[in-house]
Amino acid sequence: MPHAEESVAPPGTTRLWDLPPRGPVALALHGGAGGRIEELGAELREAFEAGLAAAYRAGKAVLEEGGSALDAVCACVARLEDDPLFNAGRGAALTIDGVAEHDAAVMDGSGAAGAVAASRHARNPVLAARSVLEEGPHVFLVAPSAELVAGWGLQTADQEYFVTEARVAQLGRIRSLRLTGPRHGTVGAVARDALGHVAAATSTGGMAGQAGGRIGDTPLVGAGTYARDDSVAVSCTGEGEAFIRGVVSHDIAARVRYLNCDVAQAVTSTIAEELTARGASGGLVAVSADGRVVVAHNSPTMFAAFEQDGRLVLLT
Ligand code: ASP
Repeated sequence: MPHAEESVAPPGTTRLWDLPPRGPVALALHGGAGGRIEELGAELREAFEAGLAAAYRAGKAVLEEGGSALDAVCACVARLEDDPLFNAGRGAALTIDGVAEHDAAVMDGSGAAGAVAASRHARNPVLAARSVLEEGPHVFLVAPSAELVAGWGLQTADQEYFVTEARVAQLGRIRSLRLTGPRHGTVGAVARDALGHVAAATSTGGMAGQAGGRIGDTPLVGAGTYARDDSVAVSCTGEGEAFIRGVVSHDIAARVRYLNCDVAQAVTSTIAEELTARGASGGLVAVSADGRVVVAHNSPTMFAAFEQDGRLVLLT
């Protein structure tokens, strides 16, 4: 099993890993800053770790075979969407009406982007977002129909597939006001490929018990997801409303471009000024144009996978 670390940030602090480039390709992913899903219990930590490791390996294999950064982040995120432990795809958090509505976005460093919100039919929302990027003139589609998703050549799925017993139980506790712990999570990845291009992808079921139709930061270019070849690719997780107000992923890229700061400095300043200052919590993964990886969160915990000194590190 790869090396696993507890990533606990004491209240009011940020934990940050700043990892220098090692070779031509780079990859990092997160599995959400919402904390472990309480009802699953600590004994499933190993299952979370296995899910993170499998997703990391899926993305790394793409990069090692010469695939693009966009292919790699989609491979990571699709894998996490298929894993019912994470809040995306199967096992996504439910709206207050008990429906799984998914938000997802992809962006590559050339500026190409695609996003879906309130998606109910795509088995892998991240692939629907990629289809928006590739198949037409639009960037952002809300509630794509099953016909449209199938027309893109993607698998569709119904609510029975997405809704898990654990999420129904979580919603029951929210409705009866017995849940006080974190209700969110998200999955995302950033990569740099051998040609020097970067990409980001993010996918979520949003906040458990959210209003139907509520859209968070995840599918919004510049809020939860952003990529630009001359600076950085970023994928976020946390209290979406604050990430939207702070335009967090774009704020990091803007600091790199306009202030000429390195990615770790940019991430530190953005978290302090746009999240901590708002009393909001969350985290992110970022990769710079030269392959530097930064992983950071001011939330108590964040699931993540990245390489440090050539070994795979899992944060749980
Ligand atoms: N940012 C997501 C949202 O607000 C939730 C999360 O990442 O935990 O929808």
